[in-house]
Amino acid sequence: MSAQTILIIEDETAIRDMLKFTLSVAGFAIIEAPNAEQGWALLQDHLPDGVIVDWMLPGMSGVQFCEKVRQYEVVANTPILMLTAKGEEADQVVGFDAGADDYVVKPFSPRALVARCQALLRRSSSVEKVVSKVIKIGHLSLDLNSYRFKVNKTELKLGPTEFKLVQFFMANPNRVYSRSQLLDQVWGTSVIVEERTVDVHIRRLRKLLKEVDAEDTIQTVRGVGYRFSVD
Ligand code: CA
Repeated sequence: MSAQTILIIEDETAIRDMLKFTLSVAGFAIIEAPNAEQGWALLQDHLPDGVIVDWMLPGMSGVQFCEKVRQYEVVANTPILMLTAKGEEADQVVGFDAGADDYVVKPFSPRALVARCQALLRRSSSVEKVVSKVIKIGHLSLDLNSYRFKVNKTELKLGPTEFKLVQFFMANPNRVYSRSQLLDQVWGTSVIVEERTVDVHIRRLRKLLKEVDAEDTIQTVRGVGYRFSVD
């Protein structure tokens, strides 16, 4: 049996390193991110067994991250443990409302944290896990297992990049993204690609969507970028 994977999202390097070390020793496989935006990308790519997220993060907060996870079908059942600063009782309630399963107050002992993680993951794996890897929004459905994209009942054959584009758009519908944001999110920050590459793939995707009269799904926002529009 392979190790259970935990995603750690914490901006303070010292705490992140400590968590990583402690949990690795306890037998967990670790992936990590310094902010919730990168954490969200890792979550989708790796589908970890659990997440530890710090409350206070630059950009998207731990609470906002929880809310986002719970709204997105593919990862909605992932157990989340939130780290909070000492004495923020009210915050803990907000954290639970947002969808955290448990919380640990800083400063914490490594041993206590491992115990809480083990309990959290045991709890979630004892429940028969039916992880749906199909994202459905309106008349669109994307199956991450079989790599099938359907509009109503018609399957559209997507290339790998178009598939990734659709996956990103369906996780973030009705928002406008610039070409450079799409490059970072879909192609990754480590590759150098010209911005017009995005237009090429958008054009291909639109052509496919046109076959099923759904080309309006991708809207051009003049001077800004693109929006994936679904109801
Ligand atoms: Ca922090």
